[in-house]
Amino acid sequence: MSRFLNPRLAHLEVYTPGEQPQDQVYTKLNTNESPYPAAPEVVAAIDAEQVRNLRLYSDPVCRPLIEKLAQVYGLHPNQVFVSNGSDDILNFAFWAFAGQPGKAAYPDVTYGFYQVFADLHQVEANVIPLQADFSVRVEDYLNLGQMIVLANPNAQVGRALTRAEMERIIAANPDHVVVVDEAYVDFGAESCVPLIDRYPNLLVVQTFSKSRSLAGARLGFALGSAELIADLNRLKYSTNPYNVNRLTMAAGVAALEAADYYAKNCRAIQETRAWTVQALEALGFTVVPSLANFVLAAHKTVDGETIYRELKRRGILVRHFTAPRIANYNRITIGSPEQMALLVQTLGEIL
Ligand SMILES: *Cc1c(COP(=O)(O)O)cnc(C)c1O
Repeated sequence: MSRFLNPRLAHLEVYTPGEQPQDQVYTKLNTNESPYPAAPEVVAAIDAEQVRNLRLYSDPVCRPLIEKLAQVYGLHPNQVFVSNGSDDILNFAFWAFAGQPGKAAYPDVTYGFYQVFADLHQVEANVIPLQADFSVRVEDYLNLGQMIVLANPNAQVGRALTRAEMERIIAANPDHVVVVDEAYVDFGAESCVPLIDRYPNLLVVQTFSKSRSLAGARLGFALGSAELIADLNRLKYSTNPYNVNRLTMAAGVAALEAADYYAKNCRAIQETRAWTVQALEALGFTVVPSLANFVLAAHKTVDGETIYRELKRRGILVRHFTAPRIANYNRITIGSPEQMALLVQTLGEIL
């Protein structure tokens, strides 16, 4: 840290992304990427002409992408916002909607970035413990009088509330924004998108990174009332209007046209998830029920840190968190059937 850094930023605890080691080829089950490549339509959408056209700025409005998203989700284009990954949108949401003085509620075990954005924007965090089984108790979020941020399915955990449960929370906090982070919704949970027209305080955030195999392209979107979307655009146009680059926009439009391809991949991941859960339980793991493309699993006798380390030594990366409540667990991304078979075989050897 230099002596020039604004003291306000000196205590910021930065987000630690999952390892992306470049030294050897690992079986990567640590950052919830898709095991399947981007759709053929996406590959075809980017050609030499597109690359030559990078001399031009991108379209700040992203009209083709906004219109396509509006069509896919049954909304008006003014209810759609796109940005450079959903992390970018979550950052804007903490900045825009936490109030003055800022306050935000979210669970103790969830996406680690919420804490970073809260710190960054000097938002006081109301960290609400999950129940013993790692589920969100709806009653904890009623009439809170502050912004609420819930990943559904929840990050790290995989459990999801139903749409009816989410609606109770959204309806009980009409004067505050409820951000529903649906990064994993395409793997089997119920989306809150159908509630948007009834609740002007609801902001649904989704991403192309997980279910649409585009983590490296950096494309996220938010769906909500026209007022909330206009607020997000104020921040985008006050920071970086070109934050979706030309190649990413072309990739995003093409991905939306490949809906069948991605639906098939999401079904495959759900089947592989069911197989993996059974195999892990047979090896003596406790697995938290998941509707996401990962499972959180702890072994009955061998601790989480040891399992993480022994897997890494054998070329398989999973995600181990040191937060006390989940330190004995590992979060394992659901990859291809072959990758999961290798994981299970390797775990058998370790145990
Ligand atoms: C992966 C993830 C994100 C980040 O998505 P990007 O669009 O790649 O920035 C946001 N929220 C949750 C819960 C995630 O797991």
